[in-house]
Amino acid sequence: MDPCIGRGVAADIAVVNARLRGSDGLFSITVEDGLIRSIDRSRVAGAERTIDAAGGLVTESFVVSHLHLDKVYTGGPALQASIASYQRPDMRTLDAIDAASSVKRGQTEGQVLERARRLLREAVAMGVTHVRAFCDTDTKAKLTGLRALLRLKLEFAESLHLQVVAFPQDGVERDPGAEEYVRQAVELGADVVGGIPWTEKAQPARRSHINKMLDIAEEYERPVGMLVDDAPDARLRTLEMLAKETIRRGLENRVQACHARAMSAYPQGYARSVARLCRRAGIGLTVSPHTGPACARVDLLMEEGVTVSLGQDDCDDGYYPYGRCNMLEVAFLSSHILRMMTAADMEALYDMVTINAAKVIGVEGFGLKPHNGANMVVLGKGSVKEAMSSASSPLWVVKDGRVTHHPSD
Ligand SMILES: [Zn+2]
Repeated sequence: MDPCIGRGVAADIAVVNARLRGSDGLFSITVEDGLIRSIDRSRVAGAERTIDAAGGLVTESFVVSHLHLDKVYTGGPALQASIASYQRPDMRTLDAIDAASSVKRGQTEGQVLERARRLLREAVAMGVTHVRAFCDTDTKAKLTGLRALLRLKLEFAESLHLQVVAFPQDGVERDPGAEEYVRQAVELGADVVGGIPWTEKAQPARRSHINKMLDIAEEYERPVGMLVDDAPDARLRTLEMLAKETIRRGLENRVQACHARAMSAYPQGYARSVARLCRRAGIGLTVSPHTGPACARVDLLMEEGVTVSLGQDDCDDGYYPYGRCNMLEVAFLSSHILRMMTAADMEALYDMVTINAAKVIGVEGFGLKPHNGANMVVLGKGSVKEAMSSASSPLWVVKDGRVTHHPSD
């Protein structure tokens, strides 16, 4: 904290009477030109807009590091078999993917646009300022959903940062032609190269899938977000494969891995060695314990220093029937599923939906510190425990120094 910055100059926004995580007493936060200018205990001389937090917690805004945005609100009678397959204790994920893919055929850009817009509006009201959105980019979906999400990226630019992932949901080897759609998607403006290597039939095809997607990422200098090992089957080992290839290519700190539920079935020694590989590769993990029956070893990953975030993953689609991008709700559910109940655990979970999620998707200058982007929420609750228990929407949401949501707006 630097109490000397810009003292005496009127700020664009001042948040007063703010309670901060990990500190006693109340603070003032000033914002200028989209950045946090100061955080200290002094009285603020003047600001264009003063927000009285009234002793409520003020924290970083929420970051959704994994969301299938093109599929939101597609749930319904036609997808019950898909949900049932995904939610079995042994997870028939491939059956679910095949059953859910029917939605993609005949879907129009307008339909994706309308559903995703509804969800993003809800996300803004829940205090979300950054979203990494996975969008099916394959021979069934083609570029329909992707074009819709790229339009929404522009439409929502003032209220949230949307990263669009070109994601070959049905595989690359299993779906010949998908690779070319991913390439076209990146040329159209997709921010991230996706992948789902574990769904390929055999090890050589899984390796080829990883290589083809990393080739595109290197060629276009894009970060990577892949779904790995999404079933509790110890034979699924594409997280290890991805980590080793990331290190071999020198792509450290540019790769995200989602799900990795097979880790729950790995022998302890192997699970730890994979966690260490992820640490070396700078791979950030996004887990979603609420959307499926098994979860990666968050405890081991944290012990080994891997950055772990929580993702919303699905919202009312063929895999999971609920969801609204309320990341406090996701943290609350995860607290139960992962048995993370101490005060320190709650702080760790809160990090997973804020600063860790931002780190996993490569957001720079994120965090409640001077000189960082002014992305924050003013909660009507005095502690992380109260905030997670209520999961109520923030009173104020600020993105890059602009108020993007206030209940009376
Ligand atoms: Zn997912």
